[in-house]
Amino acid sequence: MQIWLDGKIYPSHAARISVMSHTLHYGTGVFEGIRSYRTEDGFSAFRLEDHIRRLFRSAEALDMQIAYEPDEVCTAVNRVLAENELLDAYVRPLVFLGEGSMALDVKAQGKRNPLHLMISAWEWPSYFGPSMSGIRAMLAKHRRVFSSPTLVQAKAAGHYLNSYSAYASAKANGYDEALLLDEDGYLAEASAANLFVVKNGVLHTPFTTSALEGITRDTIITLARTSGYTVMESRIKPEELFGGDEVFLTGTACEVMPIISIDGCAIGDGGVGPVTAQLSKRYQDIVRAMPSSLSYGDGMVPIEKAHSSVIQ
Ligand code: PMP
Repeated sequence: MQIWLDGKIYPSHAARISVMSHTLHYGTGVFEGIRSYRTEDGFSAFRLEDHIRRLFRSAEALDMQIAYEPDEVCTAVNRVLAENELLDAYVRPLVFLGEGSMALDVKAQGKRNPLHLMISAWEWPSYFGPSMSGIRAMLAKHRRVFSSPTLVQAKAAGHYLNSYSAYASAKANGYDEALLLDEDGYLAEASAANLFVVKNGVLHTPFTTSALEGITRDTIITLARTSGYTVMESRIKPEELFGGDEVFLTGTACEVMPIISIDGCAIGDGGVGPVTAQLSKRYQDIVRAMPSSLSYGDGMVPIEKAHSSVIQ
């Protein structure tokens, strides 16, 4: 594997960092997860600019100044994909603090921890296909709670300890995924994916006060609206899930993932619902039709404008 580290490409064994890196001890890093797809013209990293914009926003939330311009990072992502000869792949940019101060306050002791940027990528075929029969989820005891509103939208390494533990607990209990509630007991999201509930042809998704503003969530909202569905941000009580016709997750890694049961109770008729199947298919079409060089405007506001040149 070829890795981009601070502006240069190294074979993975040569991309070295100190064991005293601040991020290794405290989770003080931010990252992205991007999927690249095989298209007619080679690989295309889906909504690359939006992912890199979010990486910069996450870094800002932690007062970290990335030493590159967003377009330089996009170029570096494409270079990593090309160097590794990848098409259907997952890309991981990670911004992290290196060795220096071991205090939580990295400006303390007059030491400066260098801020590094690493980009790796590996093959990761899409889950989509005839075998995609849906997953069984569990309502987790873990809550999606943030210590400040700024941190909610930071895709920060430290947040994932909670996700890791919730997911591990779901697995240990024989489920495939965990659904987390927010501080007030409403649904927030899954361990690393956003949640949608379909009821009477209307799509409901939790507000992003306790959930990441997922780029796939945004794409699906646009696709659903352009397919004629109403989409609403709603406060969803966990018990309302069981009355839903369909429930699914969205995320760069899991794409559109049907949930067929929660806590052992079947959702709808226990199979993949028609709205989920339709949106999943449209998503698969669009990710392979979008050249990575396209500009997507200013991220996700207003969401209806995203992909307006592609989605009819
Ligand atoms: N929530 C969390 C906590 C995540 O880690 C992810 C994956 N990035 C998502 C939601 C989905 O976001 P996206 O669609 O941008 O991948």
